[in-house]
Amino acid sequence: MITECPHCDSKVDCDERGKVDLDVAETGVPMKAVLLECKICHSPLFGFSELVQVGHDEWDWEPAERKWPASETEIDWSIPEIARNSLIEAKVCFKANAYSACAVMCGRTIEGVCKHHDAKTKTLAAGLKKLRDDGVVDDRIYQWGETLREHRNLGAHATIQKVPKEDARDLLDFCIAICEYVFVLNEKFQRFQQRQSEA
Ligand SMILES: [Zn+2]
Repeated sequence: MITECPHCDSKVDCDERGKVDLDVAETGVPMKAVLLECKICHSPLFGFSELVQVGHDEWDWEPAERKWPASETEIDWSIPEIARNSLIEAKVCFKANAYSACAVMCGRTIEGVCKHHDAKTKTLAAGLKKLRDDGVVDDRIYQWGETLREHRNLGAHATIQKVPKEDARDLLDFCIAICEYVFVLNEKFQRFQQRQSEA
């Protein structure tokens, strides 16, 4: 079965080492969870595959959609589109070794976070201050945002200075953490408080 191996960085043929058939009644489509072994690097992979019609009376299993290790471009659905599209591109840039571009896309992601909070945001610097002043982020997260802003500027302008791989990795991690803090954890905490007040 074909699936994308993150270690080989390409779609590879895999041996099926185990499977669990999933309840058709729930999805309406025959599906199975599969444990796979990459035929090239022998890494274990886990994913889901659907049975699809490929001809008259002919059915075959689709390439598995990998769930573990998690896909590089998989991000939480609570992160709104204005930030998520740039965040996906930041991850794609990092994977393609384009580290300055990754830094720029991280900055653009945070700009999206600021615009989502206040559509009138003109600059990233002002947007970050507004997030802090309105209590959306605390001082530490604000500092991470400032770091992202500085490196966004470094990556965006034509200088000979490059963004090293380690820096790009850290910037990307800060960027993901800020999005999760603002859109995932804050909302989870609000729902938690709501339940407490109802109880
Ligand atoms: Zn592999």
